[in-house]
Amino acid sequence: MAPAYTDGSGAMGVNNGGKHSVDVTYIAEAEATGLVTVATQHEVTDIERRKDGRWTVHVDHIDTSGAVVENKILTTDALVLSAGTMNTTRLLMKAAAKDLISDLPDGIGRGWGSNADRIYLWTNLEEEFGAVQGGPVVYGSKNWDDPNSAYTVVQASIPGFYGIDMRSTVLVGYGVSAGRGHFVYDAARDDAVLRWPHEGDSVLQTSHIDPTVRRIAGERSILTDTNSIVPSTWHPLGGASMGTVCDLEGRVFGQRGLYVLDGALMPGNTAACNPSMTIAAVVERALDDIVVRDVGTVF
Ligand SMILES: Cc1cc2nc3c(=O)[nH]c(=O)nc-3n(C[C@H](O)[C@H](O)[C@H](O)COP(=O)(O)OP(=O)(O)OC[C@H]3O[C@@H](n4cnc5c(N)ncnc54)[C@H](O)[C@@H]3O)c2cc1C
Repeated sequence: MAPAYTDGSGAMGVNNGGKHSVDVTYIAEAEATGLVTVATQHEVTDIERRKDGRWTVHVDHIDTSGAVVENKILTTDALVLSAGTMNTTRLLMKAAAKDLISDLPDGIGRGWGSNADRIYLWTNLEEEFGAVQGGPVVYGSKNWDDPNSAYTVVQASIPGFYGIDMRSTVLVGYGVSAGRGHFVYDAARDDAVLRWPHEGDSVLQTSHIDPTVRRIAGERSILTDTNSIVPSTWHPLGGASMGTVCDLEGRVFGQRGLYVLDGALMPGNTAACNPSMTIAAVVERALDDIVVRDVGTVF
């Protein structure tokens, strides 16, 4: 196993091609067919439904500094949105607000959840966490007995920094969150902005995750709750959720040929698990169905 898997570098990506990420699995296989074009440094800015029912995609081709070098307009029979929870939702919100797509479901931009993430920097000046910490994750604590408050706490290794033992690592808790936010369209910015109730996941975080994190760290540790400094989550989910906006296979209700296949499809939560395998499993299942039922009929 290449060291990049096991030395904490996972937090920065494993860019040696060894990790089973889509660039070395599905995308590589798709490119090998010769039927696929992958366009990096292309940012979708708007999506639109044409009068003939096909889809228009407005794209900025950017350089490595982010400057736009070219505008492109693509037309397609089927459009699969996989820009991640935040960006798929924003594209749909913009399309609804500007009437680029009529009759989008009302639930778009709703049901957004944080997976109840609580991210701590754990410092202990008496302990050596190691300049190389192993992982991505070395150990965790599953607390899944009560389905209403199920949660997990994991240690997340931080990458080595010039061989220095920083005497710190990261603890992350997440679980069955109750809080839900929603997006609003801001015309001045031509963007959709998340509104999140500040106390959204406080019951799970305060009564369950926090005491477990403190027990793991012990009294001599310094725990910095990063969420109390900057509200954040590693696990944004929802915004075009199954059941309200899409069917279980990501077909957007009432919009033939439009699909959501990413974290936006999750109903605000992936139980007491971090989300990427759940997203991948749901999307793989959806594609099996879409290939059988929609290819050759819808597109
Ligand atoms: C620091 C960190 C650690 C994490 N650790 C874990 C973990 O250990 N386990 C786990 O399960 N999950 C983890 N997650 C969460 C996990 O990464 C996400 O849940 C998952 O990647 C979401 O998948 P997705 O397909 O919905 O979106 P993404 O993986 O975000 O993919 C969206 C893609 O769309 C592209 N894109 C976005 N907007 C546009 C646009 N307008 N035009 C063109 N392209 C666009 C993006 O560049 C990106 O490539 C972590 C997240 C973070 C931030």
